[in-house]
Amino acid sequence: MKETKKILEYDALVVGGGIAGGESALNLANLGYKVLLVEKDLTIGGKMIMLSKVFPTLDCAACITTPKVSEIARHQNITIFTGAEVKRINKLGEHRFEVDVLQKPRYVNVADCTGCQMCEEVCPVSVSDEYQYGMVGRKAAYIPFSIASPRAAAIDIENCTLCGACERACPTKCIDFTQTEEEFLVKAKSVVVATGFNLFDPLKIPRYGYGSQKNIITSMQMERQLAPTRPFNTILRPGDGKMPDNIAYVLCTGSRDKSVGNPICSQVCCMYSIKQAQLLMGALPMADITIYYLHIRAFGKGFNEFYAQAQDMGVEFIKGKVGKITEKENGNLILRYEDIEAGVVKEAEHDMVVLSVGILPNQGISDVFENEKLELDPFNFVQQSDMLASPAKTSIEGVFVAGTASGPMDIPDSILSGGAASAETTSYLRRETV
Ligand SMILES: Cc1cc2nc3c(=O)[nH]c(=O)nc-3n(C[C@H](O)[C@H](O)[C@H](O)COP(=O)(O)OP(=O)(O)OC[C@H]3O[C@@H](n4cnc5c(N)ncnc54)[C@H](O)[C@@H]3O)c2cc1C
Ligand code: SF4
Ligand code: SF4
Repeated sequence: MKETKKILEYDALVVGGGIAGGESALNLANLGYKVLLVEKDLTIGGKMIMLSKVFPTLDCAACITTPKVSEIARHQNITIFTGAEVKRINKLGEHRFEVDVLQKPRYVNVADCTGCQMCEEVCPVSVSDEYQYGMVGRKAAYIPFSIASPRAAAIDIENCTLCGACERACPTKCIDFTQTEEEFLVKAKSVVVATGFNLFDPLKIPRYGYGSQKNIITSMQMERQLAPTRPFNTILRPGDGKMPDNIAYVLCTGSRDKSVGNPICSQVCCMYSIKQAQLLMGALPMADITIYYLHIRAFGKGFNEFYAQAQDMGVEFIKGKVGKITEKENGNLILRYEDIEAGVVKEAEHDMVVLSVGILPNQGISDVFENEKLELDPFNFVQQSDMLASPAKTSIEGVFVAGTASGPMDIPDSILSGGAASAETTSYLRRETV
């Protein structure tokens, strides 16, 4: 016999627990609304919780995110589902949304897990760690990273051999292999879409050699190497574990490039690369850093000064279009590029290359809307139906968009956008009462 779904009722459903969705959820909860925050990952915090420091202030990203994440996690008006998926959203009428949510099994009772990591220690299975962007391994029984929220273990059942070692080692007996998927029917009065962005896959530009040339990494991999929850205690090039001393950045990898299907500017790559260059000068004082760029877009408050600061620190900026990257026998890399100012093709050798990958839409969310269409813009981000007057409004009344789900933006703008979405949601919810 089919089990009946549990029914839950909320004022607002927030889809996506990054900084934008978290901000919306927190504002709504502080106004007394009951919020359900659904996050597909095992932790809330989105990309921001994984970053090193933030431009242009160089504040520690984790130090800003962690208190916010813990306020969200403890708020009595917020229920959080991590490792959960929104399968269907149906608008039945104004202030009446019916939503199917699937809670996937974690195989650990989160409430009883102390985060002691004894399961991790005994687990014999090692696989690539997605939270460190594949630079190191993790166990099949694992805690995503030390500041994850919730800080609880999960079992990666696809790679688990069911040997039972973790179950025997767990002091609180909270590992439960009998957990199954749970379905919920959520009745919500409003929806905030805060599903964030995806990163450009550099394998789509084979001439850059990512994947085959070992000392080429992405900017997100460098971000992890610089973060407090980093995989190594220093900066290492993956090919041989050498500390690099001549690092190149290739900006606009997968941005402003029609040939890879992404003609738009990702807005943050220039600035995060300049940030990483400054952090690298601190971490590796003897290293040379060169940034190959087409244009530097330093348009925000304090950004141009931040760019000038990097130049003063000795970061070299070359206006150049990189055509091809090849590997030498010693693992060093030869960049063939057009020096735009001199109008000639040149070559330069570096011992590590960072590809500053662009921001792509996370378009799957539009497919879950059933009877009304969540419109997307020409670049497949969520369409803002009234961008100038009410930027959080979408094509569906009662559904609002927050953060990079509507287009590339930095953290301050994502927080502002999360605030705008919560204000619009509040005004929509108040109309019901009136
Ligand atoms: C390498 C790098 C460095 C950066 N450095 C800086 C910096 O120094 N300063 C700065 O201001 N900005 C920086 N940024 C930009 C910053 O990461 C973004 O502005 C910010 O993360 C956007 O937050 P968000 O909540 O919109 O999206 P995200 O962080 O992407 O969060 C979205 C969340 O939604 C979840 N989700 C997605 N789909 C679903 C679904 N269907 N159901 C449930 N949950 C879902 C995701 O798992 C994720 O947790 C950097 C970006 C990169 C790539
Ligand atoms: S049962 Fe699975 S997760 Fe637990 S220790 Fe064995 S392989 Fe690891
Ligand atoms: S599942 Fe058990 S052993 Fe693993 S971290 Fe949690 S309490 Fe510790």
